[in-house]
Amino acid sequence: MPLRKLLIANRGEIAGRIARTCREMGIRTVAVYSDADRNASHPRAADEAVVIGESYLDIARIIEAAKRSGAEAIHPGYGFLSENAVFAEACEHAGLIFIGPSADAIRSMGSKTAARDIAASAGVPIVPVGLPYDGPAGFPVIVKASAGGGGRGMRIVRSRGQLNAALESARSEAERAFGDGSLFIEKYIEGARHIEFQIFGDRHGNVIHLLERDCSIQRRHQKIVEESPSPALNDELRTRMGEAAVAIGKAIGYTNAGTVEFLLAPSGEFYFIEMNTRIQVEHPVTELITGIDLVRLQIEVAEGKPLPRSPRAIGHAIEARLNAEDPLNDFLPSVGTIHVWRPGEQVRVDTAMEDGAEIGIHYDSLLAKLIAFGRDRETALRQLVHALESTAVLGVKTNREYLLQILESEDFHAGRADTAFLPTPFQVKRDYLPYVAAGVLHRRDGALADYRNNPFRDPSMKVEIDGVAMTVSWKRLRDDEYEFKTGAGAIARVVRTHNGLEIDSVLRRYEVKEAGDEIFVWSPAGSCAIRRLSRHPRSEQAGRHEAANSPMPGQVLRILVVVGQSVNKGDSLVVLEAMKMEQTIRTSINGVVNAILVQQGQVVAPGQKLVEIGALETNLTETDQ
Ligand code: ADP
Repeated sequence: MPLRKLLIANRGEIAGRIARTCREMGIRTVAVYSDADRNASHPRAADEAVVIGESYLDIARIIEAAKRSGAEAIHPGYGFLSENAVFAEACEHAGLIFIGPSADAIRSMGSKTAARDIAASAGVPIVPVGLPYDGPAGFPVIVKASAGGGGRGMRIVRSRGQLNAALESARSEAERAFGDGSLFIEKYIEGARHIEFQIFGDRHGNVIHLLERDCSIQRRHQKIVEESPSPALNDELRTRMGEAAVAIGKAIGYTNAGTVEFLLAPSGEFYFIEMNTRIQVEHPVTELITGIDLVRLQIEVAEGKPLPRSPRAIGHAIEARLNAEDPLNDFLPSVGTIHVWRPGEQVRVDTAMEDGAEIGIHYDSLLAKLIAFGRDRETALRQLVHALESTAVLGVKTNREYLLQILESEDFHAGRADTAFLPTPFQVKRDYLPYVAAGVLHRRDGALADYRNNPFRDPSMKVEIDGVAMTVSWKRLRDDEYEFKTGAGAIARVVRTHNGLEIDSVLRRYEVKEAGDEIFVWSPAGSCAIRRLSRHPRSEQAGRHEAANSPMPGQVLRILVVVGQSVNKGDSLVVLEAMKMEQTIRTSINGVVNAILVQQGQVVAPGQKLVEIGALETNLTETDQ
């Protein structure tokens, strides 16, 4: 029976992505949205939308929304309820089609240890267990959570001395994240590549694969760049790995879309690590090289249609995940309003961002996926680099320049980056003067000294850029021509034209947005945030109280101290959570807790005081993961 109406139980880019395919298929869509997402764009991407309160995990409200709106099926997207067997069953009981595999298949792959057993009995190699860890296999090993996902509850251990601490912290992280602290230990494969196969099963007993994706570029075990085909596979290996992936699917009578993940060791041996029973974030690279819309195929399989034959790949696709985070500050999440959103062109962009979008603390930090396609790897890579270079995001910090750093690295170019490859983010050395000039001159009246409300009436400004404070002054030479100077003596000649600013004879387009005391400036050469500093800084408060401040916006997960407690340097004070990341705030001074200024569950702003400590030394707080 062809579906007529489908509910999308997700948000963000994937909700919009699913709605697009439904539109193309003539299927009406119902979006759901949380209270926090009232102004998000995904409810508009669907034909109708239903608010579901606090959480995208509220099974009863989602089923009720589907029933009320007359939807016949639910697509769960990725994350949230997509790998929740109880939800798949609840859909079935309510007479709704769950666009995904059976609850049994979800359950059997939900535990990594059970999944290993299935793979092994299907004749597929699995990573040797790391026990006994001082046996011939030896260290390094990796401690993993059976219920794991998203890189949580995972610790690499290189010596026996580190093992107990790693087990303990992995267990508590797994308990918090999954409500299940069961762990297992695998041998850590050095220099491995992450190669996964997209598989599909239909209701007629067919299981096929749609080639591989290479997701070796990861941070904290989370993927950031994905491509297909993998530069590490030859046809022979591709055939064997593809057959292994299909064998696992067949072993559990798999239906719908799934991904079988492997590690490929430098020796050429490969090992199954886990299977994801849903559509993946990185599915577009497969779509671009096979020409198959995977969401459409998911829906068709759920309607009972048979699968096509295994496709052949044409060309090469590379995806980069643009995240709201600060590479120069330990990748802490960045929140705020996106004043200007203009992703690069000539690539596929999957996103729910738009001008004015709010990036909050409740959801993950993915802003967009940029996916380039070309006849070969070099062509796709060049296109992706160009698209990232021309992407303008003003308002939050992003990993844009870090992605460029990765894509332009020698290792990535040569196709030899493994899962341990990650360059240290570097600060792009910039001449700040053009950005400041653009920030000052973007108002037509900006630098005219006689304008009454002109914040720049005094032709000099104290600013901070990338943590560097500087004074910038300027004077008008004639009509649209200015001279800008920094305190350090740099000078630039600036001409304002209709096409942008001509700075020292080079014409560029600049995009500027002022918000509060920040001026965001973007140009094709780069972007930066300029903070205007007050000319008369308040005198530093004297006193013996020190405070632990929040390094990021977030929610207080746990408070680990009480008033009156003595603390020593390094002790944990508070655990914060933002965008699915936990952050422990520690003290780096010895003292006594004088006051706790927040409550559990409270949402805090960056810089907000959390705990006040009667200090014996100068205030400093440190953070870690
Ligand atoms: P999650 O479900 O949390 O994403 P995975 O089991 O998929 O965890 O592993 C995520 C990543 O962790 C892999 O892509 C790989 O980089 C690394 N990893 C996992 N197991 C091993 C291992 N045995 N040896 C080396 N790296 C591993």
